[in-house]
Amino acid sequence: MQRTISLKIPCEESLKKTMQIYNRAVQDCIDIGWEMKTFNKNELHENSYRLLRKAYPSLQSSLVQCARDQASDILKRSGFEKRKPVKRLNGSIRYNARTYTPKLKDGIISVSTIEGRKKFRVDVPNHFKKYTKGIVKGMVLVQRNGFFLVKLVVELEDKQFKYKKVRTLGIDCGINKIAVCSDNTFYASKHLKGRKGEFFYLREKLQQRGTRSAKRLLRKISGRENRFVADVNHQISKAIVNSRYNTFVFEKLSVRKNRKFGRKFNKKLGSWSFRKLQTFVEYKAKEIGKQITFVNPAYTSQTCSVCATTQKSFRHGNFFSCSKCGLNLDADLNASRNIAMLGNALLGRASVNSPDVSCDDVAGAKAQLQQSIVTSHLTC
Ligand SMILES: [Zn+2]
Repeated sequence: MQRTISLKIPCEESLKKTMQIYNRAVQDCIDIGWEMKTFNKNELHENSYRLLRKAYPSLQSSLVQCARDQASDILKRSGFEKRKPVKRLNGSIRYNARTYTPKLKDGIISVSTIEGRKKFRVDVPNHFKKYTKGIVKGMVLVQRNGFFLVKLVVELEDKQFKYKKVRTLGIDCGINKIAVCSDNTFYASKHLKGRKGEFFYLREKLQQRGTRSAKRLLRKISGRENRFVADVNHQISKAIVNSRYNTFVFEKLSVRKNRKFGRKFNKKLGSWSFRKLQTFVEYKAKEIGKQITFVNPAYTSQTCSVCATTQKSFRHGNFFSCSKCGLNLDADLNASRNIAMLGNALLGRASVNSPDVSCDDVAGAKAQLQQSIVTSHLTC
């Protein structure tokens, strides 16, 4: 698994200058590639290296190569459509192995600049210390308000699933409750809805105004909103992963998009970033040797988690009530229990067959779900 360590270094003049010259070189290289309609590194190298060395004599040869590689990737991403990409003067520098040396144990990192190699002292925050054992694979330097940020990509060994007994937790994601777990834990979203509503209202107002300062504020607000969503997702995922369960089952998001949210609601608030929540759970779980799996969400909200009868009419808004066995339950809780059982059944089969055995067709998914519920009750 890969992790990123972000470390602060002071805003030094040599770094600032390096960044500007480097980004000019990247832009020149983009211009050349754009004209030739190529992102091929060899072609770019042949046509730009000498020119760039001449134009920016203080930029050492390996940094010119970094600039070329970054330009190549930017050109590739652009697809040569619409407008030519622009590299900002204070945009990031992507270093290659020859242009930096991380010595995290000594708290030192040395970086190529236009004034030669420079050493910087870095403080590794506690939450990053567990990653320092890994192999550093790459480095990006970005400028922030009043300081620079070194982002190191670290490759760590994958942890194996370490539990003898599988304890499964099914998690149903929805907008009224962000996550409902099969162990009766609810993560509500009432105040989150309010906050999202505020952000929406502000965004709408600023978009209407359309002035430059409004646009600036818009960017600021979208950053604030993203951080707010990420923060909530971090808290929920942490609680889920640190629970007594070791296997977490989610619905595959691609199969059911926005099932539970009305059109009006989608338009107004946008959906919660459940994919982020799942990603957070996934990486937190993998760090401590727990596992995560995904199941087909079809029928999980229409099927009784006790008697396995499927009927659309069993669900009344937030409530689930089965007329066959008399189960009365919160609809999302019922769904999360189905998800857990489905995950359990699939994992059982996965160990002997291929790892992804969930059904993608709707009829198959229904049969699979009902079978999982029956088997689960038989073994209990
Ligand atoms: Zn029932």
